[in-house]
Formats: sequence, C-alpha cells, structure tokens
Amino acid sequence: MTAATATAVPRGLVAGLTRDQRRLLAGGVLLGSAGVVSTLVQPKLVARLIEAAGRHEPVAALVALLAVLFVADAVLSATQGCLIGRAGENIVREARVRLSGRVLRADLAYLDSQRQGDVHTRLVGDTALMKIALTQSLAQILLNGLIVVGGTVMMALIDVWLLLVTVGCLGVASVASVGVARGLRKAALVNRADTGEFGADLQRVLAALPTVKAAGAEGREEDRLAALADRVRRSGNRVTVLNALFSPVLNVGLQVSLAAVMGIGMARVATGSLGVADFTAFTMYLFYLVSPLVLVFLSVGTYQQGRAAVQRVDELAGIPQEDAPPPRGAAAPAAPKDGDGPPAGGAVHEGGHPAVEFRDVGFGYGDRPVLEAVSFTVPRRGLTALVGVSGAGKTTVFQLIERFYRPGRGSVVLDGKDIAYLSPAEFRGRVGYVQQDSAAMRGTVRENIVYAAPDATEADIAEAVELAGLGDVVAALPDGLDTRLGDQGTGLSGGQRQRLCVARALLQKPAVILLDEATAHLDSEAEAALRDSLRRIARRCAVVAIAHRISTVAEADRIVVLDGGRVRAVGTHRQLIREDDLYRRLAAAQFADGARAASPG
Ligand code: ADP
Ligand code: MG
Repeated sequence: MTAATATAVPRGLVAGLTRDQRRLLAGGVLLGSAGVVSTLVQPKLVARLIEAAGRHEPVAALVALLAVLFVADAVLSATQGCLIGRAGENIVREARVRLSGRVLRADLAYLDSQRQGDVHTRLVGDTALMKIALTQSLAQILLNGLIVVGGTVMMALIDVWLLLVTVGCLGVASVASVGVARGLRKAALVNRADTGEFGADLQRVLAALPTVKAAGAEGREEDRLAALADRVRRSGNRVTVLNALFSPVLNVGLQVSLAAVMGIGMARVATGSLGVADFTAFTMYLFYLVSPLVLVFLSVGTYQQGRAAVQRVDELAGIPQEDAPPPRGAAAPAAPKDGDGPPAGGAVHEGGHPAVEFRDVGFGYGDRPVLEAVSFTVPRRGLTALVGVSGAGKTTVFQLIERFYRPGRGSVVLDGKDIAYLSPAEFRGRVGYVQQDSAAMRGTVRENIVYAAPDATEADIAEAVELAGLGDVVAALPDGLDTRLGDQGTGLSGGQRQRLCVARALLQKPAVILLDEATAHLDSEAEAALRDSLRRIARRCAVVAIAHRISTVAEADRIVVLDGGRVRAVGTHRQLIREDDLYRRLAAAQFADGARAASPG
C-alpha cells in the first residue's frame, strides 16, 4: 500500500537537490572559477604591461588582452550569477510545491491555529533562507575563498613582508566590518519582525473592523498601531546607522593598509629591492581582495542560518500525513457486529449497514475529554438530529466523521467500514459536510458549487441547486450561477451561503450529509426553506443535522441527545418530550426562541 511509503519521514525530502539543480549549480561554480582565474591574472598582466612600457616595447596586445579579461570577468560573473540564481529559484519552487502538498494532506489535528503561523513561516521564509544558503552562500564562500587564497599566494610570491603588513591592516578592518555587518543583519531581522507584527495587527484590526467601530475603539487601535509603527521606526533607524557605517569602516581599513603598503613599498622601490611593476600588481591584489574577504566571513554566517532553515523545512516535510495508518495500530478493520439489534428510534437499515455508526467513541482535544463513550447509529435514509447544549461536542462528532481528528477510543464506522482504515479519498467523497460557518471559496457561484465535483453536468448542478433550495436565490442574482462572489462569499447572506454549501455537498452524491446549522444566520423563511430541502434530501441519503430550531428537530426521524460526552437518549420528538427532561428543557428553550419562526411539526 502507498500508505507506508507516504508516511515514512522523507529524509532530506527538500534538501536533496534534483539533477537540474545540481547541473545549474555546477555550471555556475565552473564559470565562477574561470572568472576567479581571470581576476587573478589581471594584476600580473598589468605588471607585464608596465615592464613592457619601461622597455619601450609595444603594449597594444597586452592592453587588448587586459580589456578582454575585464569583459570576460564581467560576462562570467553575470552568467554565473544567473545560473546560481536559477538553481536557487528552482530549489525554492520545488520545496514550496512539495511542502504545500504535504501541508494540504497533513492531519488536521497537527494544523491548529498556532501551527498555521509556523507553517507559513517555514513555507515562505525558511524556504527562501534555504535557497540562499544552498546557492548564493555556498558559491560566495567557494569563489571568494578562491580569490582570497589565490590572491594571497600571488601577493606572497611578489613580497612576503608587504603581505604580512597587509594581512595585519586588512585583518583588523575585515573583522570590524564583519562585526558591523552581523549587527546589521540582526537589526534587519528585528526590523522585519517588527514590520510583520505591525502587518499582523493591522490585519486583525481590519478583520474585526465592525467590532472595533461598534466598541468605539478606533482611537485605541490607532494608538496600538502607532506604538507598533514606532517600534518599526526604531529598529529601522538602527538598520540605517549600521548600513551607513559598513562601507566607511571597510574603506578606512583599506585606506590604512594602502597607506602602509605605499609607505613601505615606495621605500623598497626607492632602494631598488622591489620593482614598480610588482608594486603596482601587489596594490591591485590588495584592492581585489578586500570585498571577497568580507564576503567569505558574511557568507559563512548566512550559510549557517540557511542550514537551520533547511532543518526547519525538513521538519515541516515530515508533518504527519492523513494517509498514515491508525496510530493505535490495530491490525485489521473491525468487522461490523451482527445482531446489533434494531437501533433506537425505529430506524431501518435497508441494505445492511447503517450509514454512520459511532462505537464507544472517546475523544478529547489535548487532555480534556469532550466525548467519552459515544455510541449511536445513523440510518441510510432520513433525518437524524443531533442536539445538546452548546459545547456538548456536536460539531466534534462531525469532525470525527470527516476524520479531521481521530478518536482516542472506539471507532467511527461508515457503511460498515472503520474509517480509520480507509484513505481520505475513500470516505470523504461519501460524506458531504456543511459547516456552521461555511466559508465560500473564490470565484463564481457555479465554481463554488462544483468545488467538490468539478466534472458535474449542468443537469446535476441544476438539480443540486433546486434540491438545496437555492433556485430562487440564484435566479435573483445578476449573472445567475456565474455571479462572482467576494472573498468571504460576500453577496450572499449567511443562510444563502449555507444552502450553497448544501448544493456543493449534494453534487458529490454523498451517502451522508452533515449539516451544522447556523443558528444566527437563518431567518424563519430561510429556515423553512432549508427544512423543506432537508426533507427532500433525506429521501435520497442520510442527513445528520445539528439543529437549533425545534421545528427542524421535531421533524427528524430520530434525535440523538448529547450530554456530558455521552449519548443521553435517542428517540423521536414525541418519545423524548415524554421521557427525557434535558430534551424537554432544550426543546422549551429553543421553542421559545423560535416560537415565531415556525411551529413544531
Ligand atoms: P458544540 O458543537 O456542541 O457546541 P463542540 O464540538 O464545538 O461543541 O466543542 C466541544 C468542546 O470541545 C468545547 O468545550 C470546545 O471548547 C472544545 N473544542 C472544540 N474544538 C476545539 C479545538 N479545535 N481545540 C480545542 N478544543 C476544542
Ligand atoms: Mg458547534
């Protein structure tokens, strides 16, 4: 089975380079090395030129060669940069696509809201750091390292004493400027984090703008944003100062070493122990060496950051996948029990298994138990209502049927099969889930409806729209099914949005439809329409509704009452009103709420 291979933590899934990437990197390094050779030859050539000029020989050929080397240097450096850059973009693209795939197929339980931010950082920020480490930094270290080593050797060949003086002066300057650069990098990180925080806060405020306005809190939010903007300014100022310092520190070092080399070198030239040509070449090497020296130091730092990013990216690549075998590791799917007796509520399971069965299910988010020993069945046809006080675990029951979370105990059985042993594709297509706060996706009404069944025919769409009670709504829209919806499904009321989701669920031709009814969204008319739709839908498949209106609940073929993590009672409205005092209380409270909305059936 593919499950085993899919769950094995992919070692180096992302860090491993593809052939294309390796080829680009190798090409870049090769061209870069050629550039290094060309660079190192130039001062030598200048020395030759000076000597030739001293002997009144023609220098045109040497000058031409020098010009060719300059141009070659530029071309090689540009091409090398392009190749390495392309390898980098390639790496980051692969990593992001593969990670997105892993995240989309990850176990929802691992993607709670806290982790979402972390996932975002790893997928967007760390992949970029990783790209730089694996390409630019490594290439910088290698190529600039070559220049430093090669240049030093050349300088040593010209004059060891001058080299020692240079190393002394330049060493101090490099250390100082690397210090400045490291400070700069840290300050830039802080500045970026501050900017991110400002952005996140702004987003939060914008999302809650109606609440902010209703609370008259615009001024307070403005002050908060101002304080955050102040932090951005302070860290930004630090970046500016360090940025301004970097070049001067390095230049002073260069100038001091140049002065020292000039002083000592000139004296040597005067005594005749050093030629003018060699002296000039030496000075050129000095100029050529400064920035590679600093870049090597800096690239080592970037590379180390990048290695850490690679590790974080690899960790994300190892996020548990949904295809994983059940964590409890039982060997075989539990066979459906025979002789389970007719389920309470007088339901009949035509064709054998119930649509859904909870067998002694226990579950909690973290340590706190939400469901303790929940058992009930849902017949293959008809409306089953799930009722209980707020927080009783009704929505959780739905999340378990979708296997967004896995039960800690017991099993959730769909059409006789424990869903723990099925792949998501095997059972999700058979379950239509209409969430309480159903979010519409991008695009038109039609695109929204066919989201789970992209191949649906026009006739199927029309039928689903009709069955979901969405026909009049669509007819009233300016462009009908092709009306574009805003990002949050704007243009539709909450109730309409929910019916749109019912239509979407219906198109999947599911065996079960789960409906988490939104209390607040539905006015009485919408509720009546939805109730009517559910009746009709329940003739084709199982409908499980978390219903808040007594009118919907009373019409249900069976009602499951959840209380304290257990099923307290199962029955029809008539039975439960007679026999269950909690149900009586719930019914009374909700009947009062919905008294004007509709009369109980
Ligand atoms: P209901 O739908 O009946 O109102 P829920 O199933 O939404 O109840 O929630 C049951 C309990 O589980 C509540 O106490 C709720 O706070 C808690 N809960 C729900 N979702 C989560 C979650 N993702 N993480 C932690 N606790 C949760
Ligand atoms: Mg709920």
